[in-house]
Amino acid sequence: MEFKARLVSWNEIVDWCLSIRKEIVNSYSPEIIIALSRGGLVPGRLLSDYLWIKDLYTIKTEHWGITASKDATAKIREDPTIPVKNRSVLIVDDITDTGKSMKLASDFIKKLGPEEVKTATMLHIDHSSFKPDYYATEVSNKEWTWFIFPWNIYEDVLRLLDKAMTGEHTEEEIITLLASNFDLNISRQLLQDLLSNFRQSGKVFRNNQKWRIIRTS
Ligand code: AMP
Repeated sequence: MEFKARLVSWNEIVDWCLSIRKEIVNSYSPEIIIALSRGGLVPGRLLSDYLWIKDLYTIKTEHWGITASKDATAKIREDPTIPVKNRSVLIVDDITDTGKSMKLASDFIKKLGPEEVKTATMLHIDHSSFKPDYYATEVSNKEWTWFIFPWNIYEDVLRLLDKAMTGEHTEEEIITLLASNFDLNISRQLLQDLLSNFRQSGKVFRNNQKWRIIRTS
């Protein structure tokens, strides 16, 4: 197996965000949420609702350029003006893995003169160099997994197929490849939906019953 990947359900997202909310209401009163784009956008929006915080902003951090392969350095792509001065801030992301994105964002926001800054993620991998103040689930480094969030499924599965497919494969073969390379079990129906999108988007080619990735580089 190359590495483990798993599909995350919308129900899990809701459960994890509700569990973060539960911890926060007893200990912190943020006035503004900053969601890290793109992974923290949906959790940030849910927490904005669950915590009654209408002031929701985003900043973009980047370093996992492509699914399960990291760029060397994390960077903030924009330099936005966010009204955090003298206010209590909650920074939200989906997961802390290396922890670089959250560290970068939190250092960046701290320089803007907030009253207080706290951080929250749904998942926290225990090898992360940055530990969020609030997280719903801790994942052991030994169990390292690439989590396919429901908002990233097309991008992630295409990347996995790109890693696993060597030539032309039938749907059954693709399902087997995903299972053996990533311990990822996906239904035939889901695979067909994904392949249909990929095909319309010019990312895969179908020849009779076989599929091939269109690689541009
Ligand atoms: P980090 O390595 O903590 O800076 O993670 C940066 C971003 O990369 C996260 O906000 C996620 O969107 C994505 N990411 C990192 N590790 C994973 C993982 N194991 N599963 C899914 N997404 C991840």
